Amino acid sequence: MTDTAERATTTTPAVEDVLARLTLAEKCAMVTGLTPWIVGGVERLGVPEWTVSDGPVGVRGRGMGPGLVVPGESALAATWDPDLVHEVGVALGEECLDKNVDMILGPTVNVHRAPRGGRHFESFSEDPHLSSRLAVGYIRGVQSTGVGACIKHFVCNDQETDRMTIDVRVDERTLRELYLPAFEAAVGDGGVRSVMAAYNYVNGEHACSQTELLGSVLKDEWGFDGFVVSDWGAMKDTVLTGRGGLDLEMGSDDQWGRGKLLAAVEAGEVPEAAVDDKVRRLLGFLEWRGRLQGATDHTESPREHPEHREVVRRAATESFVLVANRAAGGQDATRALPLARGVRVALIGPGAAETALMGGGSASLEVYRTGSVLDSLRERLGPDAVAHAPGVSLRRSAEALPAEWVTSPVTATFHRAGELDGPSVASQVVDGASMNAWHPGRWPVESPEPLCARVTFTADLPVSGTYRAMAAGFGASRLYVDGRLVADNTVDTVHISLGTGAGASEVLLEAGEHAFALELDAHPARQLLIARLGLEYLPRTDADLADEAVALARDADVAIVVAGTSGEWETEGADRASLALPKDQDGLIARVAAANPNTVVVLNCGAPVTMPWLSDAAAVLLGWYPGQEGADALVDVLVGDAEPGGRMPTTWARDEADTPAYGNFPGADGVVTYAEGLYVGYRHYDARGIEPLVPFGHGLSYTTFAWGEPVASGVGTSFVVEVPVTNTGARAGSEVVQVYVAPPAHGVVDRPVKELRGFAKLRLAPGERGVARIELGERAFCRWDTDTHAWVVDPGEYSVIVAASATDVRGRVAVFVG
Ligand code: BGC
Repeated sequence: MTDTAERATTTTPAVEDVLARLTLAEKCAMVTGLTPWIVGGVERLGVPEWTVSDGPVGVRGRGMGPGLVVPGESALAATWDPDLVHEVGVALGEECLDKNVDMILGPTVNVHRAPRGGRHFESFSEDPHLSSRLAVGYIRGVQSTGVGACIKHFVCNDQETDRMTIDVRVDERTLRELYLPAFEAAVGDGGVRSVMAAYNYVNGEHACSQTELLGSVLKDEWGFDGFVVSDWGAMKDTVLTGRGGLDLEMGSDDQWGRGKLLAAVEAGEVPEAAVDDKVRRLLGFLEWRGRLQGATDHTESPREHPEHREVVRRAATESFVLVANRAAGGQDATRALPLARGVRVALIGPGAAETALMGGGSASLEVYRTGSVLDSLRERLGPDAVAHAPGVSLRRSAEALPAEWVTSPVTATFHRAGELDGPSVASQVVDGASMNAWHPGRWPVESPEPLCARVTFTADLPVSGTYRAMAAGFGASRLYVDGRLVADNTVDTVHISLGTGAGASEVLLEAGEHAFALELDAHPARQLLIARLGLEYLPRTDADLADEAVALARDADVAIVVAGTSGEWETEGADRASLALPKDQDGLIARVAAANPNTVVVLNCGAPVTMPWLSDAAAVLLGWYPGQEGADALVDVLVGDAEPGGRMPTTWARDEADTPAYGNFPGADGVVTYAEGLYVGYRHYDARGIEPLVPFGHGLSYTTFAWGEPVASGVGTSFVVEVPVTNTGARAGSEVVQVYVAPPAHGVVDRPVKELRGFAKLRLAPGERGVARIELGERAFCRWDTDTHAWVVDPGEYSVIVAASATDVRGRVAVFVG
């Protein structure tokens, strides 16, 4: 491997000129962020401060104000349309320009390895080829506006459980064939300006100090000349990262900031040339951005662009997957969707009035424009045509306990860590019960050790009934009412904001006075205590809500259930506990479908769920987290003003036990082994002969298509596959032609049955014929060879499989590769 200090990074005279005039101290200061979003400049040399922002579905900016929210990445992947994702990227780049942001922290290309992964909603797919093409579209779109993109998280950050500490054990070939390709394409084809190094370890080495991956692979082999930024607060070491391929510390100044990197250079532990390489890359970025010289400008001028709204709405309709659409009585004309004119609809489900537009965590932001399926459908069909009942509440957190219920002073007593029942070291009366925070400078007593606390008060509850109680904080927190534990944030933790986990439960309480105690354990890693307490009266239970919904369904022509998750269920910081729809939505759907055979289920979620009711629903439309125009877009498709253009970017299973990483997720004792190797997604279902519930690539249309025979031409390792497709129906529609490659039958090395290597989306008017044209280059036939540590093509006869999904093969052509 080339030592960082010796690597020849692409540079320019302007960059070298600034670099030569910087002092060592200035250089060492430049490589740690000034704030979570601002990277320092050097005023005396006219190098401005610059700004980064999450990413990937919108741009928060420094002001954390509202912004455009595009469909989640799993939705964007379902468009199977890199050009459309490019348009979305342009919109995001323009948002960055409005907010004076120099780089968006996206796209995310971690792999949907195990379907419960908490951040899959903000990452494309299970398949490296699909992810690569979409990542390149996104990056080129963003960067065409002159703003940088940052691909993340490098690498194998495919789960949230123990995300800061988990050690991913993955073999070389699997890494190369599944987990690295999207990053490689982002660098090679996308020209991405930045790569974010992940929180986790890979084969025992922390992602921020990987010598092999950040050095030999990314920078040497792939020739990456942008910079590598740490995930926020991810770095674990000063010297290894200083010598290695990491270029910018963000989210914390623990490792390089506060003079630590400078001291390591002065002590001879980190060569100055290594720091030069980092600074050269950052300056190179500023030069590319046109900001190497100039004033610091933090002005934000956010504004809505009508053309962005149009792109985002189109991207949403293009992402919706029509999973099933049955014909009542076998008549096409009576298929459940699009809705017939004049129908009376019972609109049910938690996502009807509270449509989840995005997932939770750092990918969430305040949105320019919220919307709900309920409002959009009433606007389109008329208020009287749509009756509504939520059927179940998806809320996990609780509103703050109302101040007027509190009947005593609120007292916080502090104890040494782990000694809540021992003597107190201080106590104070605080302003309110629902939110308190103590941090250095605000402790009631000087203490070198972290403290724990108990907040006590009495409150008078206005009515008897069901309440949702919540305890939240950075560390463990528990809420007791009259000595009874009612919420514990170490159980089923809900991440309500970054780093803050909540525990909540529904509890029966009598009207009248009760004693409350909120206990907070010391957070071992932070000198910080946060105490959030929620208590909210629930006038109706889920059982009441479900009864009401079923009654409405019975009286309507069509029942539409908008079921799914929300940012409280799918979020950064936590994997999902189950693949089942949360709360008893499965039971609700089953009851509604029994009450009304014309039941349409719209799924409003970012990642796979199980669907035990699939064969009872007349239609299922997968609506993802559809972004700010998503509610209107869903109604466009429900009423037939638009075509559902999406195809599955992941395989959905009947049961979690059928999924690839089952038994090897989320790991144990700090280690997760990718024992399934290459057999992730449809590769697993193909090889093991398991029938998925919904196959990769699947999606129906409102029209019909006839596919002709595929024709392949070419020699060596370069082929073109052409597939004629005719729209045989009465409506315009789109079809995605997928090309998988199967290796020679008698290969010596174990290879997946088939792998996606190309695709084309055709949009055809009624009666129109088009030809899908898909190019296959050398990489389409390659495998990674662990003897030579290189890509190799085994010569022989490969089968080119043309398909409408991983299980719906429409034709095959043999090609001789060699
Ligand atoms: C996330 C990143 C994000 C960063 C800044 C981290 O916790 O993993 O994806 O870009 O925070 O918000």
